[in-house]
Amino acid sequence: MKRRDFLKLSAAGCGAFLAGQAGIRHAAAVQPIHRTTRQEVSQRSLSSHRLDRIQTWRISERFPRFVGRNARRGPSGRGSSYQVRRLTTDTGISGWGMSYGPDDRINRFKGAKLSDLFDTERGTRDELRPIQMPLFDLVGRALGKPVHEILGGRGPEKCPIYSGAIYFEDLEDQHRQKGVDAVLAACQQDYRTGYRAFKLKMGRGNRWMEPEEGLQRDIEVTRAVRERFPDCKVLVDANNGWSVEHAVRYVEAVADCDLFWIEEPFEENREGLLRLRDAMEKAGCGAYIAEGEARKEQAKEMWRYGGYTKKFVERLYALAEENLVDVFVMDLGIVGFSNWWRIMPELQKAGVKASPHLWVWSPRPYYCAHLAAGVGNVVILEGIPARSKNIDYSAFKIKDGNLHVPEKPGWGLGLKV
Ligand SMILES: [Mg+2]
Repeated sequence: MKRRDFLKLSAAGCGAFLAGQAGIRHAAAVQPIHRTTRQEVSQRSLSSHRLDRIQTWRISERFPRFVGRNARRGPSGRGSSYQVRRLTTDTGISGWGMSYGPDDRINRFKGAKLSDLFDTERGTRDELRPIQMPLFDLVGRALGKPVHEILGGRGPEKCPIYSGAIYFEDLEDQHRQKGVDAVLAACQQDYRTGYRAFKLKMGRGNRWMEPEEGLQRDIEVTRAVRERFPDCKVLVDANNGWSVEHAVRYVEAVADCDLFWIEEPFEENREGLLRLRDAMEKAGCGAYIAEGEARKEQAKEMWRYGGYTKKFVERLYALAEENLVDVFVMDLGIVGFSNWWRIMPELQKAGVKASPHLWVWSPRPYYCAHLAAGVGNVVILEGIPARSKNIDYSAFKIKDGNLHVPEKPGWGLGLKV
């Protein structure tokens, strides 16, 4: 997409949809103009269910191992916890998902028709963001459709997935003796559960090692993983922890490693990325450049790119237009699931692929698998190998490095509380 087209789109906004943000009383204003008969039927059938009950829990999950640090932050550790909600209708249908915010912010939606809370062509409005994931599940179950079918079913039912849990295991005290072997052991553990792609954290010299020593370790780790797992994709992510010079020297040193992508090598800037792309071309490194996760500023008001600022998004598109960024990795939650559904055509038009950032909670790759199967254009999914004893993941399968999305209604994830 040309920058000027993007700006035009920004100005136009999502007219009809935004008109609905005044509140559910004005939900009629949300009606999009071009609705297919099937969508009309679905929308009508949602009007026969009212939201009756909202239950909230906090659940926890564990990684299969201690997950170390990255270029910027201390260890992720053993796992984390998060809030989930189950929504139940007066007709006895339930759906659940990750959900944030206090109950008093959402209790006002009790009694509303599902057709006023959810649009089968656009998802949820901004005011429903805290419960949008349970709502997608609930609507899927009410309609007897998987979420990817609600989204349009235009993408593949399987998507490559990488393990996003390979951190600086070589720098953790319990592993330090083993050095690079500790990283290989983490890859091996995830290989056994079906992963055929690994994202290696880079930028050890940003905080934890001397810059030169850190760069050499980054190179050593990359080469070791490439050699040990010749059948796997290797992705790297420096969390903006390299200098431009180190990023250039890195790609020159690993040009024969067939990297799949390089994510956030340094804080994105045109001059640095021009130098990096040039070095990649000269060295024969055909990796994608992935950008757009880390933001410095939050948008003051939500818009169709959620909590990312217009300036940030415009700059990403400008870099993409110059062939300096290939994949956008804005966060699933910061953009918002409904928004990701709506903006994907803009990325496609600009020739940009997507891979929403998903770390650190285990349900998110499954949500994103529906986005991939629903709208397409997701090049690979970020896998989170953590497991919660409160979640039944069994409908999803990883086979030959691909996550297969189930045909069950809703997300296809079970809640055991
Ligand atoms: Mg990242």
